[in-house]
Amino acid sequence: MSDAAPVVELRGVTRTFPGDPPVEALRATDVVLPRGAYAAVMGASGSGKSTLLHLIGLLDRPTDGTYLLDGVDAGGLSDGQRTALRGQRLGFVFQAFHLLPHRTVLENVVVAQLYNRVPRRERAERARRALERVGLGHRVDFSPVKLSGGERQRVAIARAIVSEPSLLLADEPTGNLDSTNTAAILDLFDELHADGLTIMLITHDHEVARRARRQLHMLDGVLAETVPT
Ligand code: ADP
Ligand code: MG
Repeated sequence: MSDAAPVVELRGVTRTFPGDPPVEALRATDVVLPRGAYAAVMGASGSGKSTLLHLIGLLDRPTDGTYLLDGVDAGGLSDGQRTALRGQRLGFVFQAFHLLPHRTVLENVVVAQLYNRVPRRERAERARRALERVGLGHRVDFSPVKLSGGERQRVAIARAIVSEPSLLLADEPTGNLDSTNTAAILDLFDELHADGLTIMLITHDHEVARRARRQLHMLDGVLAETVPT
């Protein structure tokens, strides 16, 4: 990995879904996220936000164009190499926390470290540190089902950052939270950003988007950036 390379570089990236007629979910798109960027993507339902996030998250492949993650051309990688790169370089947070209900909070974060090259015996310690980082050091032995929504999302964020990813990708991370918990999660994102983490989130909520340093808008598969005046 080259530290000089942007975390994300999309050049002419297109995603067309087959059909009659085909759906141009993402039209030729250029985006660069330098290390430490914090960007929000807004746009109506069906405008292509998740398609963009899936491409950047190595969960899907472009129809056309080039995607470099940490300077690595993802187009040239096998599915196995992409899975490993995803585990090492990317952290995901979703609206519906996706925690394992029959595991403890700590175990939920431990098992996320399949690809981070950390020796097995150190994984619990890493998980504990990540949970302390999100303010849940006192909840490690809890079942996720006993936690509030805001706490569950913090577990999911701990799980996403435990492998020290280059990029945190969040799809509507506050979509299931009330305003108090939303505020707490946004404060946490600010702290993680201040620590140097690169963040890209999708949101419908203007207040959430406002907290990011860059605002991107998706309209019918076309991405545009609002430049603050
Ligand atoms: P958003 O996340 O902004 O709501 P999506 O990226 O999910 O939008 O979808 C963008 C467009 O691509 C929509 O018209 C959607 O129906 C279409 N689309 C998304 N995924 C698929 C798929 N797997 N197959 C066919 N069409 C899809
Ligand atoms: Mg979506």
